[in-house]
Amino acid sequence: MLTIRKRFAGTLAGNTGEMRLKQAMTRILAFAGGFLLWAVASAVAQPAVVPGPGPAVAAAMQPQPAGAPVVLDARIGEHADRTRFVVEFSDPVKFRVFTLANPDRVVIDMPEVLWRLNGPPVLAGRGAVHSYRYGLFRPGNSRFVIELNGPVTATDPLVLPPEDGYGYRLVLDLFPTTQAAFDKHAGWPADLRAREAAAAQMASLAPDQAAGETPPPAAHGTAHKGTSTRKVIVIDPGHGGIDSGTIGITGMEEKNVVLDVGKRLAADLRARGYTVYMTRTTDVFIPLFDRDPFARRHHADLFISLHSDSNPDKGVHGASVYTLSEKGSDKEAAALARQENQSDIIAGVDLSGDNSSVASILIDLAQRDTMNKSSRFATEAVGSLRRTTDILAPEPHRSANFVVLRSPDVPGALIELGYLSNTDDCHQMATSDWRNRAAGAIADAVDRQFAPVVASPVTGERAVE
Ligand code: ZN
Repeated sequence: MLTIRKRFAGTLAGNTGEMRLKQAMTRILAFAGGFLLWAVASAVAQPAVVPGPGPAVAAAMQPQPAGAPVVLDARIGEHADRTRFVVEFSDPVKFRVFTLANPDRVVIDMPEVLWRLNGPPVLAGRGAVHSYRYGLFRPGNSRFVIELNGPVTATDPLVLPPEDGYGYRLVLDLFPTTQAAFDKHAGWPADLRAREAAAAQMASLAPDQAAGETPPPAAHGTAHKGTSTRKVIVIDPGHGGIDSGTIGITGMEEKNVVLDVGKRLAADLRARGYTVYMTRTTDVFIPLFDRDPFARRHHADLFISLHSDSNPDKGVHGASVYTLSEKGSDKEAAALARQENQSDIIAGVDLSGDNSSVASILIDLAQRDTMNKSSRFATEAVGSLRRTTDILAPEPHRSANFVVLRSPDVPGALIELGYLSNTDDCHQMATSDWRNRAAGAIADAVDRQFAPVVASPVTGERAVE
């Protein structure tokens, strides 16, 4: 059996030299969501020093259930006839296993747990497992999502009691099967589907509480009871929870960068008198299909989705602003949209009921006004980012088919703040100063989007009508 993760206890207990401890802590910090309770709940090894969180880590911190079971290890054995997936827990955990098609995945669903795995998975690639992710799916609900190289049959999972220094172990064997057999059994279990529908209904009943946000008090008499003229802005920090987004050259995760910039942007906009809602304010997964409906429920005047990019070419750098179009403005934009639209696949959302043609229905002349407003905002955002930060892509305004921008009546744009794969971008994006400037630039663009007709004192160009 190939052990893909070193046992964590061994990492610390085997040699507590300062270098090893530092290396171990670096790896732990890469998994920021689990870091806080790792220090509190660890029954195996306690480090002498717990370093303070950096900016990206602080953004991901959130309350987690004390005393929750801990995932200690995961191993994959790639054998000729089967692939064996073993997950080790500190306590017995109630879990369930199901499969999802298109793309083919195996999901291990469980109550909220604490993760104490270290390092990214390394696979030989011979077996059924293409890749896997783990993390929080919903509050109270964690999961592994295994992406497959081909169709498999998952055996009934076996749970082994603790022995020989190991904790409780979930053993799952994956045997190759036919696509037809796989498809026949794929799909979310009925009760899970019902639970998700109930969660969506709850969110629509109490939208203002959905992300723990309350509007600020009215500013300078611009709003009166029942006749508010405040503009409503929805900020959508991409990814979250099990879906970390892209990982930077320094280990910085997209989900944390965009959440932190989103919070700074929210504070800036509120100070300017806007009503602001965020699709997420913690490190939690939000399905793509919940994000633009969230904006519609809040009657948003503008939807801003925040992301950061990566590219195999480490020289590619700069911020870009994307608006919706059926066809990407270029191949790279289309590829980026495909990548950003992967979020639900990564998190194990059942897409079998999704109608991808919905995009082409939405993008017709009836939405021309929305698209014009979106385009205008993108132009403003590029303009103010250009004045405020020194990272901007050569063609900063592009378009592609992003799921989160499909709302027919809410203008919006998706902003890729920079490339975490580029050294300069990544280091700048790690600083508070750059994050404040980027948030300020976007807030300036919002101001200009809703400003009355004025001559700009800076460039003399006409602002929006
Ligand atoms: Zn993203």
